[in-house]
This record gives sequence, structure tokens and C-alpha cells, in this order.
Amino acid sequence: MQNPNERTAWHEQARQLSIDTRALIGGARVELQGSARFDSVNPQDGSIIASLVSASQVDVDAAVASARQAFSQGCWSQLSPHQRSRTLLRLADQIEQHREELALLDSIEMGMPVSTSLPDIAVASGIVRGVAERVGTLSEQLLPSAPDTLALNLRVPHGVVAAITPWNFPLYVALAKVVPALAMGNSVVLKPSELASLSCLRLGDLALAAGIPAGVLNVITGLGGQTGRLLALHEDVDCLSFTGSTATGRLLMQYAGQSNLKALLLECGGKSPQIVLDGLDDLDGLARALVQGFVWNSGQVCVSGTRILVARALYQPLLDRMVGLMEAMRGGDPLQAATQLGPLASEAQLRRVGTMVEAARSRGGRIATGGAPDRDAGLCHYRPTLFTDLPHGDALMQEEVFGPVAGLLAFDTPEQALQLANDSRYGLSATLWTRDFALANRMARQVRGGPVTVNAVASPGPSYAMGSSVEPAGASGFGVEGGTAGLLAYTRAKSLHFRLA
Ligand code: ADP
Repeated sequence: MQNPNERTAWHEQARQLSIDTRALIGGARVELQGSARFDSVNPQDGSIIASLVSASQVDVDAAVASARQAFSQGCWSQLSPHQRSRTLLRLADQIEQHREELALLDSIEMGMPVSTSLPDIAVASGIVRGVAERVGTLSEQLLPSAPDTLALNLRVPHGVVAAITPWNFPLYVALAKVVPALAMGNSVVLKPSELASLSCLRLGDLALAAGIPAGVLNVITGLGGQTGRLLALHEDVDCLSFTGSTATGRLLMQYAGQSNLKALLLECGGKSPQIVLDGLDDLDGLARALVQGFVWNSGQVCVSGTRILVARALYQPLLDRMVGLMEAMRGGDPLQAATQLGPLASEAQLRRVGTMVEAARSRGGRIATGGAPDRDAGLCHYRPTLFTDLPHGDALMQEEVFGPVAGLLAFDTPEQALQLANDSRYGLSATLWTRDFALANRMARQVRGGPVTVNAVASPGPSYAMGSSVEPAGASGFGVEGGTAGLLAYTRAKSLHFRLA
């Protein structure tokens, strides 16, 4: 049962939000000069939350110049890792103090239920703490040398890092890029998705409050094809870190090539397998986890497990249970504390998901449940949808849908499962379900994907906070995120040679 008081409390808080849409450049909130504008729209009811400016060339130049100036002055880049670490820990405190406001901003802008966005902010602040603690433990490497020489391997910051981020976990993904970049001494220009900019703008304020010097973190709003493109083409951006679609990732590689060969870190699309091996008994729990694995955040998760490959003996019992669970799921208002399933982030995304589902249906895919919007739940809701009888080569089994849509397929041997799992142009992540740990270990090493999760729903956040490092493969992109290697990704290798005599 929903608690009506709870509902009032979150809606009341949302009404009281004071929203500042101005960009953060050089340590101050400023009006952008761009003439193009866009609206932030609540996908639950279509209400307009705010109207924002899309940063133009002049604005992008100003943000990059501010980041460059701060970097060159050394107010942050020349601090010791311990000094930066202390400030980042204060940033984590700030995020925790403002967690309800940040969670609420993400929820109203892209529809993530507060039941998801609140814990997500907690995971995000855990990442900030993890990075802050790790950065003080990195060491420079003294090389073996003769008595009259001294040689060192160093890692130095790139300089100006641009971060272009998506709408599916607006604050979390931004932090997962901005914080390692800052930790290593870079200055940053963050451009969040045009669908969900507000929590990132607040992040800029919180960074200042934590003591990150003016100009070190700049946040500009804008449309991908304008502001994002200008950042990616900018001659004075040294490194571009991106999470989003593979189509945009391809463009960014071109822009980097057309401009200054900036370093790239790209986390693009995924079509991740969930492999269920024979011999499991808690089928109710397993069915719940499999559904959660692709319905969480309405399927708008890069590591969503949308190709569900099941040992033939378990196929029918799992299908029955999954359909039962999915039919019992109700989408709801993201600002009700009990809601687990929110809307898709926009009407465009709803149309995209609907089109892909209809096309697969017309190719002969059988829809075991779902396959339609859920207007009763709100403007952009789509029913959790499960396909059967689709060949593995079908576009729905090969292309990212970014909605609560998966396909179920039976296999006969673990070798066949592995072959199917790796039959994808993507290579982002994978989940295995089994009691046979020797087999799990073997398959986990061979399956394509950065994070491989065994017997749990894939969710990279907590393991990043623990220090795990992952890198996508194929059309999912490249560049390490998380852990020590994820910090080094925001640096360049450099060596020093001293002749002492
Ligand atoms: P999705 O909408 O699926 O998250 P996108 O790749 O469209 O994926 O968007 C991710 C981020 O990339 C957003 O911040 C968006 O504004 C930005 N973006 C989109 N198109 C471009 C582009 N041509 N150049 C640079 N950035 C872009």
C-alpha cells in the first residue's frame, strides 16, 4: 500500500525546490549567451520543470578557458593528492547532506523513482569517498638506474577534461567521471544530458562549497548536437569522457580526429547477457532477479541484462514465473515512496521503445507479456516486455532498446550459451547464474564484458566503490572506469630522467 503522507512529502519537497538553470563557469552561476533553448520535461506528467539555454560556441569557449586557466594557475592541479583527497571527502559530505534534493531532481527530470534515486545518490557518494581514499595511495615509480642517474615514471593529469553524460543515472554517471578526473588534478567541463541537467548544476555548487577552487569544475547545459559537439571539437579540451549511445560515440571519435586528437574514454551501448545454467533450485528468487536485471530503472541501464539465455530444462518454469512477476508489476508515480517502476525518460524514448517492439513483433517475435505503453501509470510508462521465439540474430536481440524489454532463449550446453553470449557487437557486461563455481569461473573469464556478475543482479556502482576496474569491448566503447586503473585513465604517462653528476 502507498502511504499518502509519503506522497505529499515528496511532492511538497518538489514544489519547494528552487531551481537555478544558469551554468557554472569560473566559480559563478552565469547566464549563457546561446540563443537556442530547451525544456526539461517531467516524463510522468509532461509538465515543464525548467527552460534551459543550450551553450553556444562563446559559452563553450568561456567554460573551457575557465578550466584551462584554473589548471594552469595550479590552484588544484598542483595540490598534493592528499590535499585533493581531503576536499573530495568534503564533496562526499555535501552530496550526502543534499541527497534528498539531488535524488528528487533526478526523479522529476527523468522519472527514476525516489526509491531508486535515493540509494543511487548514496552509491554515488560512496564512489566519491572511494576515489578520495584511493588517490592518496597512488605512488610514483622509481626506476632502476645507475648511481649517477635518477629516473622516475609519473602520471600527470591531461589538463582540461570534458565530460558528456547521459540521462539514465544523471548524477551518478557524472560523478563517476568528474571525480576521478578531479582527483588526478584535471579541470573539468561537465555537459549533462539535455533531459536531466539539474542535479549536475547543483553538483557544481556543492563542489564550490566543498572547497574545489573556482574554474576547476564548470557545468554547462546544452543540446548534444550543439554544445556536446562543440566540446568534442574543441581544440583546447585534452580528454573527453563520454557515456551514451554507440552512435554518438562514433561521432565523438570523428570529432576528436577532426580537431586535436583529444584522448577519449567512451562507454557506449550494451546488450548484455544473463546466462542461467542448469542445476538451480530457487526458481522464484531467480525469476525475480532476472526480471530485476532488465526492468530496473525501466531498463534504462547500460548493463541491463536484456538477452536472457536459459538452460533448456529451466526455460518453461522460469518463463512462467517471470511472466507472473511482470504482470503483477505496476508502474507508478516516481515521487511515491513505494513506486519501483517509473516512466521512461521522455516521450521520444517511449516512441523509440515502442517502434523497436513493434518491429520485432512484426518479424514473428512472440510477446509473452507487455508490448504496450501503460498510459494509466503516467505519460511515458511502458509495460515490462518479454519476447520469446526470436532468433538470436534478430535486431531486438542485437540492438540496445533502453527500455524494460528483453528476449528469452533456451540453450542446450554451456558452450552454446557462451557462444550465444559472445555473439554480439557489444561487450559491456554479463551476468551468470549457477551453483557450479568452477564453470562460472571458466565462463566468466571467457564471456565478453567488463563487469561480470555471478549470482547477483548487475549493478556496477557498489563494485566501483570497492575499487573494481572495468573496460568495455567492441561497440560498447573503450577506456577504464573504476579503481586505480580508472584514476590513471585521467592521466598521461610521463618519465623524468636526471643526470646527477
Ligand atoms: P542517450 O540519449 O541514449 O543517453 P546520447 O548519446 O544521445 O545517448 O546522449 C548522451 C550524451 O551525449 C548527452 O549528453 C547528449 O547531449 C550528448 N550528445 C548527443 N549527441 C551528441 C553529439 N553529436 N555530439 C556530442 N554530444 C552529443
